Amino acid sequence: MGALTQIQAGKGGQGRRAAVIGAGLGGLSAAIHLRLAGWKVTVFEAGQTTGGRANRLTLRGVRFDTGPTLLNYPWVFEELFQAAGKELGQYLKLLPVDPSVTYRWPDGGHLTLSSNLERLRAEFERLEPGAARGLERFLADASEKFRITFHKLVLQNEENPLRYFSRLTAREILRTALWRSMHAELGRYFRSARIGEALGSYAMYLGGSPFELPGLFTILPYGELAQGLWLPEGGIYALVEAVEKLAREMGAEIHTGRRVSQILHRNGQVAGVRFEDGAELESPVVVSNADLPVTLTELAGQPAPRLKMSPSVVTFYWAVKGRPGGLGHHTIFLPSEYAAAFRELNFGSSVPADPAFYVAAPDASDSSFAQDGLSAVFALVPVPLLRRLNGVDWKAETERLRETILRKLRDCGAGFAASCIQEEKVWTPVEWKERFGLYEGSAFGAAHTLVQMGPFRPPNYSRRVRGLYFTGASTTPGTGLPMVVLSGKLTVQRIQSHVR
Ligand SMILES: Cc1cc2nc3c(=O)[nH]c(=O)nc-3n(C[C@H](O)[C@H](O)[C@H](O)COP(=O)(O)OP(=O)(O)OC[C@H]3O[C@@H](n4cnc5c(N)ncnc54)[C@H](O)[C@@H]3O)c2cc1C
Repeated sequence: MGALTQIQAGKGGQGRRAAVIGAGLGGLSAAIHLRLAGWKVTVFEAGQTTGGRANRLTLRGVRFDTGPTLLNYPWVFEELFQAAGKELGQYLKLLPVDPSVTYRWPDGGHLTLSSNLERLRAEFERLEPGAARGLERFLADASEKFRITFHKLVLQNEENPLRYFSRLTAREILRTALWRSMHAELGRYFRSARIGEALGSYAMYLGGSPFELPGLFTILPYGELAQGLWLPEGGIYALVEAVEKLAREMGAEIHTGRRVSQILHRNGQVAGVRFEDGAELESPVVVSNADLPVTLTELAGQPAPRLKMSPSVVTFYWAVKGRPGGLGHHTIFLPSEYAAAFRELNFGSSVPADPAFYVAAPDASDSSFAQDGLSAVFALVPVPLLRRLNGVDWKAETERLRETILRKLRDCGAGFAASCIQEEKVWTPVEWKERFGLYEGSAFGAAHTLVQMGPFRPPNYSRRVRGLYFTGASTTPGTGLPMVVLSGKLTVQRIQSHVR
């Protein structure tokens, strides 16, 4: 409330003006925080709608979220609205997704996660007698890792590793397990390969493998178990609409269908932006939510950064006749050759023969995803980066992937015939790259390897061009809806620290 009054009264930075390129959740969050700090903000989004990767598609009246289908860390969104003197609940209802995720293996093995401790314990015991004890120890350890990460590490703009980690006590440093792999860290609590594979599979979206990413990332499965997984009523896009509404209420101007073609700078100082039609806008501060490497190379005329990117994806959107029986909100299919699948994903140069993938049927949590006898089924297959997939015949590959997905669904009793798909859209990495300007077609942005996290991640400002800032998945703190919302906040803190 205080912050709103400040804007209306025009105190604290009146006249400061910033242009934001892109209205993904990172850009919208930056716009809100800039308004809170008293800046005049104009957002320019190339697409016809806001939300970026978290967009919406409608087939035969059935709605689909294009990218994210689940929400974690709801407190991040609550804090965003609270910062603006509002309550998230006034804009949006969050529906719990519990049981949350079911993992399935080719031999019929399965594991269902839940935030209900009793249910989770029983499920772990089924796979590994005695695992309940390991689960308790795992949750206690990961809870401490989570506290350290979010209370001491993530929310700071610090590039000096010594200063970054100086907030931790020796005990806390030991707890981070940065030198141990996620796989090894999970192995300290569970003997069951299945439990290890399931909880380690989060690495798929981070651009590494559980054998290489640091043990600290056990906070990912922990965060979902302890704080739950959620679906905004109406889908993830309802969250985007709520955040856009908040940004507009705060006074941010948002223009869609307005592509920036160049970031203007002179003598090492940003000067503004140029649009596709040649028009220019002066602005002493530019925040780019376009993917960071693309911002540098295509918009700012800077050299390409040396960055490892997370994988690309092929996504299927199916308006299916009826409702596939036995299909929960989120099912992850893991292949029998788990380690090989990660190698293929990260280093291969073809669409994997037996890929890991997931299927989401959001009507299991929100019945509005089913319309007039049709229901929304979404499938996501991570594939190597587009630049590794030269010469791929996407038509043939998507047909093969569709068959694989439908076969595996049938094998686990949740199948439907291809003829039940009344309408289909497929987005290959080519579509993802072109629609949202994703570097190398990477779906999740810069990878979260040890050398690209924390103080080593690309910072949220340009070292070459004063006044140019970045926000979103490829900068700090990282990828995923909550992280890009935090990214917007950190970017504005950085700007404020520079203009003081
Ligand atoms: C298939 C898929 C599934 C995912 N699932 C989940 C999930 O379940 N949970 C989760 O938390 N996260 C998930 N993620 C990750 C999450 O979607 C992203 O981390 C997040 O949405 C990125 O937000 P952003 O603001 O950084 O970028 P974006 O959403 O990419 O937004 C950037 C915006 O900038 C615009 N833009 C680019 N160039 C220009 C230009 N020149 N001029 C003007 N505008 C421009 C783009 O059009 C876009 O709207 C998923 C991602 C994908 C692709």
